Amino acid sequence: MGECVFCGKAAGMLAVAHRKCRDQRAAAVERMASLFEPFLSGSLRADVFASMLNESADNNKIQRHEIPGLIPGWLEMTIADISKRRPPTAHERARAFVLLAHYAVTTGQDAPEWVRLWGHLDVCDPAGVKSGRKGVAA
Ligand SMILES: [Zn+2]
Repeated sequence: MGECVFCGKAAGMLAVAHRKCRDQRAAAVERMASLFEPFLSGSLRADVFASMLNESADNNKIQRHEIPGLIPGWLEMTIADISKRRPPTAHERARAFVLLAHYAVTTGQDAPEWVRLWGHLDVCDPAGVKSGRKGVAA
């Protein structure tokens, strides 16, 4: 008998999670993603934002210890969302790295592709960063 990874109750043979728990979780993660664009475009300190995230996690039934693992995905969602409207600004990119650093998220080989891409662009191609598109695969 497998236990649901979200609520810890019996999920049935071979199941890792209840569909309802999975859906609730996805909705909670998406709600919390909305906190990130104001952080990226603003100047709130990372530790203050981290406290906000902790409170929001409590309200959304997400364990605080899960937050660091969710940070890259949240940032990626936010960046994808911004990119639908316009290229992310250098400020927003820099702020994404501030948050990754705060949570000590790796920017090495196993980092998400955009982290490596932006890290590369910021170091090697500041002009491309300003134009927002240069060197970025469509
Ligand atoms: Zn469950």
